[in-house]
Amino acid sequence: MSLRFDAINHVSHERNNNPAVASQKITAIFGESVFNVKTAREYLSDEAYKSLVNSIKGAKKIERNVAGQIATGIRAWAEAKGVTHFTHWFQPLTGTTAEKHDSFFTLKSDGTAIEEFDGAALIQQEPDASSFPSGGLRATFEARGYTAWDPSSPPFIIEIGNGKTLCVPTIFVSYTGESLDYKAPLMKATEALNKAAVTVCNLFDKNVSKVTPTLGWEQEYFVIDEALVNARPDLLQCGRTVFGAAPAKGQQLEDHYFGSIPERVYAFMRDYENESYKLGIPLRTRHNEVAPAQFECAPIFEEVNIAVDHNILLMDVMSRVAKRHHLVVLLHEKPFAGINGSGKHNNWSLATDTGVNLLAPGKTPKTNLMFLTFFVNTIKAVHDYADILRAGIASASNDFRLGANEAPPAIISVFVGEYLTKVLNDVESRVGTKFDEQDEAILKLDLHRSIPELLMDNTDRNRTSPFAFTGNKFEFRAVGSTANCGHPMTILNTIVADTLNKFAAEVEALTEKGDKKDIAIMQVIQKYIVSSKKILFEGDGYSEEWHKEAEKRGLPNLKTTPIALDAMVTEKAKKLFKENNIYSHSELEARYEIELEKYIKKVQIEARIMGDLATNHIIPSALKYQNELLKNVSLLREAALPEKLYKGQLALLKDVSTHIQQVYDNVDAMVEERKVANNIANSRDKAIAYEAKVKAQYFDKIRYHVDKLEQLVDDELWTLPKYRELLFLR
Ligand code: ADP
Ligand code: MG
Repeated sequence: MSLRFDAINHVSHERNNNPAVASQKITAIFGESVFNVKTAREYLSDEAYKSLVNSIKGAKKIERNVAGQIATGIRAWAEAKGVTHFTHWFQPLTGTTAEKHDSFFTLKSDGTAIEEFDGAALIQQEPDASSFPSGGLRATFEARGYTAWDPSSPPFIIEIGNGKTLCVPTIFVSYTGESLDYKAPLMKATEALNKAAVTVCNLFDKNVSKVTPTLGWEQEYFVIDEALVNARPDLLQCGRTVFGAAPAKGQQLEDHYFGSIPERVYAFMRDYENESYKLGIPLRTRHNEVAPAQFECAPIFEEVNIAVDHNILLMDVMSRVAKRHHLVVLLHEKPFAGINGSGKHNNWSLATDTGVNLLAPGKTPKTNLMFLTFFVNTIKAVHDYADILRAGIASASNDFRLGANEAPPAIISVFVGEYLTKVLNDVESRVGTKFDEQDEAILKLDLHRSIPELLMDNTDRNRTSPFAFTGNKFEFRAVGSTANCGHPMTILNTIVADTLNKFAAEVEALTEKGDKKDIAIMQVIQKYIVSSKKILFEGDGYSEEWHKEAEKRGLPNLKTTPIALDAMVTEKAKKLFKENNIYSHSELEARYEIELEKYIKKVQIEARIMGDLATNHIIPSALKYQNELLKNVSLLREAALPEKLYKGQLALLKDVSTHIQQVYDNVDAMVEERKVANNIANSRDKAIAYEAKVKAQYFDKIRYHVDKLEQLVDDELWTLPKYRELLFLR
């Protein structure tokens, strides 16, 4: 029996075999595996506790001797929970997380066995990191990289089977200080934004001393039976199906979105939610998505650094917990052709230490002016740096989703809704007239009363926008489901920081010339509205007209990763990241190289899988069927039946033979193009060759013929689970 039919049998068995998931009160388990501030109070001396809390606030570094005390406290807590090993947990540029487990166990000089975890082990480790991508950085500077503790993100315990490991969130840097991960730049960008936003806030309110970017992500994913996935080498190895004919029923009935969650998936969800709660991940919503077998979860938003850690951790937890349920989570942006893909909306805002959401319209004219300032600065930032924002979400897998008919296009635009469009137009319409203090435009910025309207405006329309204002936050929707949101968040925080700094400088220049502060602020806001107007779009982002209109406006539409990435290394980008202290030129170039490399490898792997499946699955099945047809036809001939009685078989034979030959020819030609691409030294050229010559030329073509064969060949002979099975069997 082929793996396919074996897998289908398995599904019905697993369906009745759900592992039991305890029903627990969330508050009873929330954060129990996290060394949070409350636990710290219990396990640390006053001195150590104070030092840790100050460092979490970003105020002070932790001294080495205090680190020793903290390490001892953390170990005592962890050991009480049965932990034996620890690891520095970090986010290398491969996109997953990395760990290197060490035990607390050590030997004294006299051979006595003890358990130990000292300050040095907490603060810094040297993983043998030579095989993590570095874009040439470590080679150029120094062979070693090290991980360094990020006290602002609390240590946590990961349970795998019966084993428990203490994970210390860390940044990963080269010996000479270049960052090699997603966390270090995010922390720098967060700090840059804090500084810039506090300066601008202080124009309105002197009490603000800290501004924190907040992030609430919405994670989409597919859940598929494990046995079925195991019978699909493409899902197993690239997380997406490279072949598969559309099922008779796909998502056209739109019955999945409103449907109840299937029992097996429900058990899995409760299980991973419980694990997440223990880890302090504040998951709040779960629901079906539009596509069959597609789901979404979202937490309550958090400070961006923590939110990113939690998302990365969640992706890992989900994948592991799924195994217990004999399910597989697909995080890929487009696992199935012709069916919606998965994104990860990044809801982003700015919170002050005085408890104000800077992107929520205020109650008074003054707070409204503050809102308008941050609102317009964000729009201006997206306008000025749209290309860099686009580069920040570019990946081989997101290329399949962006611009597909259910996902935002690769054109960056901003949706603000009807009411705020009107506000912006009003301010803009007064170009040439000078604002005065009793100005209606300032005093009557009556945004607060219009909030219900704002929210009402949250129609389906804005779902087609890659960057939409949704009442009290912006929602960056073009981020892919596999992404580490640390990367797009680093870019967003940097470009907004940069814009706010310029804003503050312009306001200052005007007030020095004698303008009243509010008037100066209005003048600069007006200028920004005028200069960034072309990024605003309220229409249907999926439509053909928008593509034309965007082109007319001169907005870039970079559809593929190798080209979109160019924006990371322009003079503009280098200046932006250098001036804001996020990336040096060499760090930026290294990252660019890494992204290109990742792209090349991903396409290369998919191309190989295609060839492999065609040769080892598709063609053998098709040949068997072709032989059956041949046998049938020759027997009919022998029986001297008139040909008109087996015209159908003859036509089928011709079709099957044609598609077989086409698969052969195109796979061969693709292999040749791969060889050519592999010989290109320059990585940009190589990535472009992989995109234009290998992927664009052959992927769809090969798939077309394979999918035709799937529809022609005897179902019994077909070895790969079909879409209807993958998507509907649970
Ligand atoms: P939906 O988008 O489904 O209508 P919501 O708008 O309530 O749902 O929230 C979506 C996500 O936005 C959630 O993860 C939520 O935590 C997050 N969110 C809400 N407010 C903020 C904020 N001020 N900053 C960042 N994220 C936020
Ligand atoms: Mg949303």
